[in-house]
Amino acid sequence: MTASANANDLAIVRTVADLRRAVADFRKAGRTIGLVPTMGALHEGHVSLVKGALDRGDVPVTSIFVNPTQFGPKEDFSAYPRDEQGDFDKLRDAQCRIVFAPSKDEMYPGEQLTTVTVAGITDGLCGPLRPGHFQGVATVVSKLLLMAMPDRAYFGEKDYQQLQVIKRMVRDLAMPFEIVGMPTVREKDGLAMSSRNRYLSAEERTQALCMYRQLVKVADTVRDGRTSCAEASAAASRALRDGGFDIVEYFTVVDAESLKPLERVTGPARVIAAARLGRTRLIDNLAV
Ligand code: AMP
Repeated sequence: MTASANANDLAIVRTVADLRRAVADFRKAGRTIGLVPTMGALHEGHVSLVKGALDRGDVPVTSIFVNPTQFGPKEDFSAYPRDEQGDFDKLRDAQCRIVFAPSKDEMYPGEQLTTVTVAGITDGLCGPLRPGHFQGVATVVSKLLLMAMPDRAYFGEKDYQQLQVIKRMVRDLAMPFEIVGMPTVREKDGLAMSSRNRYLSAEERTQALCMYRQLVKVADTVRDGRTSCAEASAAASRALRDGGFDIVEYFTVVDAESLKPLERVTGPARVIAAARLGRTRLIDNLAV
């Protein structure tokens, strides 16, 4: 399938060779390329990244690949929601022009001996709780970037540590791609949109909101630099447990770039949390 068959077509490509051909067609027409890596089960958060690419004049290229190497053995890889036809419809509506939906063998043909590891900023937050996760993410994102060779790639601030890991990887390896971070898209009541929200029961959906409320509260409380971040975060963790969360993995205030925990806010900071509600693991964060 060629990418320029019809001005508004969504080209569905499954192989790296077809992806490169489709991208080359747009390049020949003088267009720039914006890559949006996803794991599918798309929602308005993903669509906002496609819009971000369109707003900058890029041809949006979305990848859909549930990457096995970023899931731990006890995580939800097999249960992860998949809805390829629904995703294609959403991408067509969003004016995405190429979707790359490879098989596992296309992404990882044969034995793979090479991985990408970003140290330091993966030492805290989700790093120790999900061993191997960020190596899986950094490796698959490197591969997707090298397969699509975009001008820019778009990532959500919803996965804030992931965004910092990718920015750092691109900087350290001098990869010729601009990484664009996009604001978190929320439901009307404030809950961050996530493919995993569909695991929530009606009761859990109500309880889930507690995380956003506590993030707002802590961000407000520590903003002036006079309140202890540890004390405000400890109160928020208690409120999450009282509000029905089973395990609070972390609730903390960190430097916005290094992700090191802060005792007082003196510059750009992020309040960031991960907690489990029933079988669902929720993460969210806010700028302070
Ligand atoms: P995922 O499919 O969950 O791996 O996410 C693919 C991309 O969409 C990542 O860059 C995420 O940070 C981003 N994303 C997920 N949820 C949201 C959201 N609610 N708002 C903005 N971006 C999001």
